[in-house]
Amino acid sequence: MAAASTPPASAPAAARPGTSAAPVGAGTCTVLAGGRVVLPTGVVDGGRVIVEGGRIAGAAPEGATVVDLTDHWLVPGFVDLHNHGGGGASFTSGTAEEVLRGVRTHREHGTTTVVASTVTGEPDFLARRAGELSELVEQGDLAGVHFEGPFISPCRKGAHSEALLRHPDPAEVLALVKAARGTAKMMTLAAELPGGLDSVRLLADHGVIAALGHTDATYEQTAEAIDAGATVATHLFNAMPPLGHRVPGPVAALLKDERVTVELINDGTHLHPAALELAVRCAGAARTAFITDAMDAAGFGDGAYALGPLEVEVKDGVARLVDDGSIAGSTLTLDTAFKRAATVDLMPVEDIVRAISANPARLLGIDDRVGSLEPGKDADLVVLDADFTLKGVLRKGAWVVDPRTA
Ligand SMILES: [Zn+2]
Repeated sequence: MAAASTPPASAPAAARPGTSAAPVGAGTCTVLAGGRVVLPTGVVDGGRVIVEGGRIAGAAPEGATVVDLTDHWLVPGFVDLHNHGGGGASFTSGTAEEVLRGVRTHREHGTTTVVASTVTGEPDFLARRAGELSELVEQGDLAGVHFEGPFISPCRKGAHSEALLRHPDPAEVLALVKAARGTAKMMTLAAELPGGLDSVRLLADHGVIAALGHTDATYEQTAEAIDAGATVATHLFNAMPPLGHRVPGPVAALLKDERVTVELINDGTHLHPAALELAVRCAGAARTAFITDAMDAAGFGDGAYALGPLEVEVKDGVARLVDDGSIAGSTLTLDTAFKRAATVDLMPVEDIVRAISANPARLLGIDDRVGSLEPGKDADLVVLDADFTLKGVLRKGAWVVDPRTA
């Protein structure tokens, strides 16, 4: 229905990323040839990806258009589980057009699938907001909604308004999930608070990822929350007690449990490279998810911003609360996270692809469509040069960034 309707004057087609450009393979077939293709089974040198009608095809007919990508990497489009905005726009407070601008900004940096994260607000506001965002999920521009707060610990509030924090009352949790009309994918909460474990169970029962974060839980409380159904660590290490050798805290419980995937913000600011390496080695590539936790300034620039009701200043690409200097989200884009992982952290490219595409797609339950380069899946892919600099982005078979002109 959305595709057949005429966009209102206030939302020109150009502002709707991915809906205005014709797929490169529409009616024809395009072969992306000669690159190093990262498949679930490994890297194929001089491989090819065939794109037809917005999807990856198994075979190319005679006369297909060939795009030569020799000396380039071809990797699946990135999937961001945790992202608050970009391009100067906030997913928590922006208009639909602004949210789409943020989505487009991240797309230009390789993120072909993005979940919109909210920050702590009044329950009524968040419920209304979830309803608004759900429309953008339904039209295919967002992959879902992630509620970060308000059910988090005042001890580890980070860039969330303390006055608006609440205990995780299952009835209030359920109201938010329902307000998102089937598009709620994840909620970050502090399960040690009263009502926390029941809320984790409720989320798990409703197919919503219960993510532990902004938490002051002990090791034992964290293990209990995992037993109750929590499966994700929200930005591991950040906004939780540190790892201690006598008091291991949530980090140890989250890293060692095979049921948990750990989010990591690989921007060089949120995590020391050694902490990142420790986490990736311990969790393994199968349980690591690179996220941005980006705020409005991602892909935009330094300056004064708001994160929910809080004032933020971004300087040299680092976002901090004006009030107390807490880190307030990142300005990271996933192409930068990929490049850091390959060139600073020296991770194998196949492992980076799992952390940045395959694992988040699996967690979101959309790995039948995205997250890997396989016939039948959406033609979402990123072209990187030999130095891992982004040169092309294809989404549903349409170039967002064309490597022939980039
Ligand atoms: Zn966040």
